[in-house]
Amino acid sequence: MNGKQYVEKVLEEVKKRNNGEVEFLDAVTEVMESLVPVFDKNPKFIESGILERITEPERQIFFRVPWVDDNGDVKVNRGFRIQFNSAIGPYKGGLRFHPTVNQSIVKFLGFEQIFKNSLTGLPIGGGKGGSDFDPKGKSDNEIMRFCQSFMAELYKHIGSDIDVPAGDIGVGGREIGYLYGYYKKISGQNTPGVLTGKGLTFGGSLIRTEATGYGLVYFTEEMLKANGTSFSGKDVVISGSGNVAIYAHEKATELGAKVIAMSDSSGYIVDLNGINLDVIKDLKEVKRARIKEYVNIVKDSKFVEGHRGIWEVKCDIALPCATQGEINKDSAEILVKNGVVAVSEGANMPSSLEAIKVFQSAGVLFGPAKAANAGGVACSALEMSQNSMRLSWTREEVDEKLKDIMVNIYKNSSDAAKEYEMEGNILAGANIAGFLKVAEAMHAQGIV
Ligand code: NDP
Repeated sequence: MNGKQYVEKVLEEVKKRNNGEVEFLDAVTEVMESLVPVFDKNPKFIESGILERITEPERQIFFRVPWVDDNGDVKVNRGFRIQFNSAIGPYKGGLRFHPTVNQSIVKFLGFEQIFKNSLTGLPIGGGKGGSDFDPKGKSDNEIMRFCQSFMAELYKHIGSDIDVPAGDIGVGGREIGYLYGYYKKISGQNTPGVLTGKGLTFGGSLIRTEATGYGLVYFTEEMLKANGTSFSGKDVVISGSGNVAIYAHEKATELGAKVIAMSDSSGYIVDLNGINLDVIKDLKEVKRARIKEYVNIVKDSKFVEGHRGIWEVKCDIALPCATQGEINKDSAEILVKNGVVAVSEGANMPSSLEAIKVFQSAGVLFGPAKAANAGGVACSALEMSQNSMRLSWTREEVDEKLKDIMVNIYKNSSDAAKEYEMEGNILAGANIAGFLKVAEAMHAQGIV
């Protein structure tokens, strides 16, 4: 059997077995299509059934999360933790609290996480979790009670050498604090390495908050540099206004770019003078307000309802940093028509498979999520190292390590693309480089 036949055969089985899990199947299809030449060159991976095994999670945990709201009413949400692959280290990946969370979404995120974590060069396996709980509009006490109930089950399945969750959409420093406090109480253990994204006073790492956004910009700058350009003087559109979006704005601006549009799920703002990040941080990080408030504070800016329209704002560089499925074929065509030079993904799988094809055939530089947004998990792994050594690195030390990791991810992805005769295709290169390390480890460890 050659590589193409093997990929087609396994893809068909995966589609049958995971019928209806659209996001998961898209993620698997995207990775598998890049791997055909890898199997032609390494038939041992076909013999040891790597694809059949890597597409099936090692363990999936689904649980009930009951909690009581401020009115005394009982609420029930669903909790998920997918321990996808531990070939190269303990499961590692964030928790997402958002009403759209379901099995397919957690599985696609966990699957992507395997390759992303491998690309960082650090010894971490792939996992992901979360809940369909909606943190919007909840009081601090409700958030705390929910986190405690969630941890009351999750603590049985995690550990600093087993599975180390972190934040994602809807899970930031506040939630990690509540989760860690309760873990400590019910497990009787003070092992900070069990969760990352912690506060600085109890084992958190400097730069973790900024890491995904900064890392995205370091990676993208490297991609631009390899193609004779840079962020300097460019107009940038960033979707979202959460953790990743805010720190992508901060670093891109530091490198001389101007961020002219940002969004949240209700709509987007445009400020051609450059979006004032202090105002965004105050609205989003302090007040937890909606982005449309920006226009009441900064004159000459506008708010447009509906978040999809943001890609109509003409820009040189687009950084989707909100969520999956934000850029479809039509949005991609508009971006290309307006002369976009680079699209680099801060969010996980924001571009549809058709949108990626539009970018690639138009020669737009494309930074795929699993490479471009790996800075968050890389810094989480640095937090784990600091926890186990019981020391803290300075801001400069962590930032330098983060930058080195992102530069290396770009280089390894670009080299792999070249080696497999797909020069310039960073998506294929990232899939191949991330896959090879995990596949070698799975092959060496036998059929487990
Ligand atoms: P946050 O919760 O901090 O922010 C999410 C942002 O995206 C908010 O502005 C939110 O708007 C918007 N958003 C969320 N869901 C939707 C939706 N369905 N439609 C439109 N807008 C939406 O999350 P993060 O910044 O942490 O995560 C953003 C993306 O980056 C996710 O894809 C995540 O998986 C990915 N990522 C995050 C990492 C991290 O370290 N945090 C690491 C690697 C990837 P609103 O407030 O209105 O909901």
